[in-house]
Amino acid sequence: MSTTPRKHAGPAAAPYAAVRDLVLANRILATEGILDAFGHVSARHPVNPARYLISRSLAPALVQGEDILVLDLDSNPDGETTAALYLERYIHGEIYRRRPDVQAIVHSHSPTTIPFGVTRVKLRPICHMSGFLGSATPIFDIRDSIKHSDMLVRTPALGVALAESLGEHSLALMRGHGNVVVAADIKAAVYRAIYCEVNARLQLQALQLDPKPRYLSDSEAAQSDTTNMKVAGRPWRYWAERAGCADLLDS
Ligand SMILES: [Zn+2]
Repeated sequence: MSTTPRKHAGPAAAPYAAVRDLVLANRILATEGILDAFGHVSARHPVNPARYLISRSLAPALVQGEDILVLDLDSNPDGETTAALYLERYIHGEIYRRRPDVQAIVHSHSPTTIPFGVTRVKLRPICHMSGFLGSATPIFDIRDSIKHSDMLVRTPALGVALAESLGEHSLALMRGHGNVVVAADIKAAVYRAIYCEVNARLQLQALQLDPKPRYLSDSEAAQSDTTNMKVAGRPWRYWAERAGCADLLDS
């Protein structure tokens, strides 16, 4: 992997490991079907918390080190660049601004979560791998901010509205669009984005068998999440292998 920024990327001064892990996160999330041609993952700059790293506008499966840009919390790039930027980058900047605990963010259109954003059935943790969901997943409805939109979080004001909807949660569903997942490091963010989709799938299956499945209690959800976050490095390595990117793993 090349980690040399392209000329159009501006002074994307970021430690090698942060760029490498972000490239790997892109590849993993694409391989696991969480990101397709759309959606994005970012990481807070490890040295300057008022900056974050994200790819230029590109399908995640194609992202390389040279595509990684450094943006400020207004979601403007550091330095001059001719690179196209993600339209919805304000999701990232406004959440980083409001949540100093957040170090990585995934915005995806992961398909099985969509029904839970448009119906009265709440997305709830149904297996021990998804305790991070908690029992009160917020739903961001863009129509509360703009009556007629193209559904994209394409302005700073919409980024603020989404960040406020997320509050202190790990996940917010976005009505008719997808979701945003946050975590204290990039491995945990990838883990949560993947298991959010897995949980939605399992919950839909359970609801076909019984309209009132037995979900994890708040206590079970919190305790299992604490346990799982300690071992988020294990699935990271496994997913890196599946993505054909073992060469991007640290030793
Ligand atoms: Zn989107």
